[in-house]
Amino acid sequence: MKRILVIEDEPQMLLGLRDNLELEGYEVQTAADGEQGLARAAAFNPDLVILDLMLPRKNGFDVCRELRERSASTSIVMLTARSAETDKVLGLELGADDYVTKPFSITELLARVRAVLRRTTSRPPTEDTVRIGDLEVDFKLHQARREKRRVEFTAREFELLRYFVQHKGKVVTREQILNEVWGYEEFPTTRTIDNFVAKLRQKIERAPHEPEHILTIHGSGYKFVG
Ligand code: CA
Repeated sequence: MKRILVIEDEPQMLLGLRDNLELEGYEVQTAADGEQGLARAAAFNPDLVILDLMLPRKNGFDVCRELRERSASTSIVMLTARSAETDKVLGLELGADDYVTKPFSITELLARVRAVLRRTTSRPPTEDTVRIGDLEVDFKLHQARREKRRVEFTAREFELLRYFVQHKGKVVTREQILNEVWGYEEFPTTRTIDNFVAKLRQKIERAPHEPEHILTIHGSGYKFVG
């Protein structure tokens, strides 16, 4: 049974989410503020955290950051009342796996929860650390270093890199990447993949315009070579 922790300060919302998630067969715990949420997360070790952005005693961004520092394997879905793009982007940069803007339908949230759990738990295991050229990547800690200097990746860039590593030597299409790394979300296009690949190349390739690791296979997609 998958464990889900809901951190939300609106009592009605909290109860509604708990009931619906329990009906779906999840084991659920709840917390009504940021501090309590972090304490519960440590004790409960959830597979996924549904995290409200605006919380008393520690906001969702700070909670998200701390959760990520502790564990790379807990998935995080953020709830945001604001629809400002910056919140979404910042949430994803801090390591949230997905977000839902309030007001949302419970059906939508449940679909996202399922999608996030599917894509974070059904993948073949990756070695915790891999070397890509002179870059040392630790997927467990979500860290990468080159000659002792930290190289920063967003959560999504890490996911994409992990996907490439898991499919080393094989051609993967943009559609496969969209399905596996982004799940069903509505906004990415195959163009998004190309942009993310460009960013990854900046970080992992010695010469990004003459890539040695993430190769473009014209007419098909990409191939990662170690
Ligand atoms: Ca709130």
